[in-house]
Amino acid sequence: MPYHPLDTEGDWFQQLFEASPDPTWIIEGNRFVECNAAAVRFLGYSCRDDLLNTHPSRLSPPRQPDGEDSYAKAERMMALALENGLHRFEWMHRKIDGSDFLAEVTLSAIHLEGRPIIYCVWRDITERKLTEALLMKSESRVKGILEGAADAIFIADRQGRYQYVNQQATRLLGYDHQTLIGMSILDLTPEEDHPDILLRFQELLEVGEMRSELRLTAADGRLIPVELNACILADGCCFGSCRDIRERKAAEENIHFMAHHDTLTGLLNRRSLTERLTQALATAKRDCHPLAVLFLDLDRFKATNDTLGHAAGDALLIEVGQRLNASIRSNDILGRLGGDEFVIVLAEIEDAPAAARIAEKILGTLGQPYTIDAHQVHITPSIGLAFFPTDGEDCETLMRHADTAMYHAKSQGRNNVQFFSSELDLFAMRRMRMEHDLREALAARSFELHYQPQIDAATRRIVGVEALVRWNTPNEGMVMPGEFIEIAEQSGLILPLGEWVIDEACRQLRAWHDRGYANVRMAVNLSALQLRSANLLSFVEATLLKYGMSGDQLELEITESMVMDNPNACIEKLRALRRMGIRLAIDDFGTGYSSLSNLRLMPIHTLKIDRSFVRHIESSSDDLVICTATIALAHNLGLQVVAEGVETPAQRDLLVGHGCDFLQGYLYSKPVDANTLLGLLGTTH
Ligand code: C2E
Ligand code: MG
Ligand code: MG
Repeated sequence: MPYHPLDTEGDWFQQLFEASPDPTWIIEGNRFVECNAAAVRFLGYSCRDDLLNTHPSRLSPPRQPDGEDSYAKAERMMALALENGLHRFEWMHRKIDGSDFLAEVTLSAIHLEGRPIIYCVWRDITERKLTEALLMKSESRVKGILEGAADAIFIADRQGRYQYVNQQATRLLGYDHQTLIGMSILDLTPEEDHPDILLRFQELLEVGEMRSELRLTAADGRLIPVELNACILADGCCFGSCRDIRERKAAEENIHFMAHHDTLTGLLNRRSLTERLTQALATAKRDCHPLAVLFLDLDRFKATNDTLGHAAGDALLIEVGQRLNASIRSNDILGRLGGDEFVIVLAEIEDAPAAARIAEKILGTLGQPYTIDAHQVHITPSIGLAFFPTDGEDCETLMRHADTAMYHAKSQGRNNVQFFSSELDLFAMRRMRMEHDLREALAARSFELHYQPQIDAATRRIVGVEALVRWNTPNEGMVMPGEFIEIAEQSGLILPLGEWVIDEACRQLRAWHDRGYANVRMAVNLSALQLRSANLLSFVEATLLKYGMSGDQLELEITESMVMDNPNACIEKLRALRRMGIRLAIDDFGTGYSSLSNLRLMPIHTLKIDRSFVRHIESSSDDLVICTATIALAHNLGLQVVAEGVETPAQRDLLVGHGCDFLQGYLYSKPVDANTLLGLLGTTH
């Protein structure tokens, strides 16, 4: 009879044994001699007796998962339990329905009255095993994901040492896997960033997650900007993914640079220049020291740009920027407003003469020849100077006043420096008002043409008229061109105005022709801007066609300086006009600097001797020489000569005596309106 513990230990022990949720067995010899209800239920049996008196391997598949024979293994396990007192292992059981389950078996050996008894408890570990298996499976999946991730991923232990880094982390930093394991964030970041990083990680510990931008130091010492997303895992470890944001940073920097700088020269643009000037003014006010604003515009840059081409024009602007940069001190401010306009703020200047010295120096530096595309190019600046605090206390006023002074420098013959003055301001204000009024006048067609006859010296008949524009204003009456043409040129308004003049002059000539005066020619003044305009040729051609005129009935007057600014391009345009049959005259001849060789090349018909030489022709032998020489020169070149501003019969006689072809001046008629001129046509003078 086998030993039965329940016999001696009483009811309470039996109840405990029976009620245990874990299947429990008693083994004696190598047989189950007792089991509880859980054991019976577990294996799906209904009768306890079916289970007892069996070898433990009987309730199992023939082999265990490790391949060992179940009987042999059961024997071995029991032997170990008896030997060590306690033995725990996993065992695969088989239920009555044939299904298997894995249990953790604990065998405890007890010696009762010299007989070895084994107390055996099973715990079903299917669920645990399943979770483990799942975990193992998902860990490999997670690992796959981590390794394949585009971001560098780090898992650090509670001490911040990396336990895991993915391949991308080793690629990004250039360290091998082994080196990175055990490192911490502080080993991978520049020391000056550490205080900030420590603060951020403090925040991570408090909040559980954080996002931050930081710089990692790669193995080769390069700093790599990254965006770090980190969180604390359930076990206290830290999971962090770092995105390489070099490209984004570079794009951001580029955008930032472009927003603040002029893309061509790399100098500050208008916006940042204004910002910097405002800051500099605040400092100047606080420290009570003066400050100077230099407004700089290149002389005849447009002509240079047209001749050399835009790429060379750009190269010239870049070099001007570099020369300016080299001329100023580190806390001065330099910017390009656009086109050929530059501004320099001398932030720490002692006084006005010091600023003037710097401006003069810049004049010299920029005036040196430039070599662009193997060509020597000369260009000069006009510079205007305004002072803080005398000429203005805010950015806008100072810039405006320096601009006004720059315009003054232009009108003083360019290539010079001018200071702002309150008189200049008045002048500038008038100019601004006039520009506005001109614009309105153009829309309202408040202009009219007057005509001044040109007399043939031989026949004393009117052979042509010069159209001269006037501005009819409601308040100031008739305004003469001397007062508004320059402003119209500077503002570009001369283009529409000039087209109106050509159209109106041709319309008028057509009307006179229709009334029988078919031999009269029309002279029209052109401005430099018109001559440069791409539209000119087609516009003139269309206008001639519109009024049924031939080219030789129109004479266009240009000045020497217009041609000198850009001889090649200009001569090309003039040739095209000449091919259309149009006559060309050089106006105000003698007042500008002409090169005789250029004059020879120019496809012109007529020279107009300027009024200033005619005026004193009787009293000044110099003027007489100029007039007679001009006539001789013109005739030698096959050109005709018109003398302007002939006021007296004596002037006329001298000019005619020296062979002048045509005469124009108050002696014959002032410029008059179309009706009055009609009365003059056909008369002899
Ligand atoms: P300009 O082409 O040399 O015209 C001759 C100027 O001399 C005219 O002045 C005329 O009134 C003046 N004048 C003619 N004979 C005499 C004289 O015997 N004595 C004196 N003291 N003056 C005389 P105006 O009409 O004031 O024109 C001035 C300038 O304005 C013109 O000089 C021309 O350069 C420009 N201008 C006039 N109309 C136009 C135009 O339609 N387009 C352009 N671009 N410029 C124009
Ligand atoms: Mg003229
Ligand atoms: Mg003239």
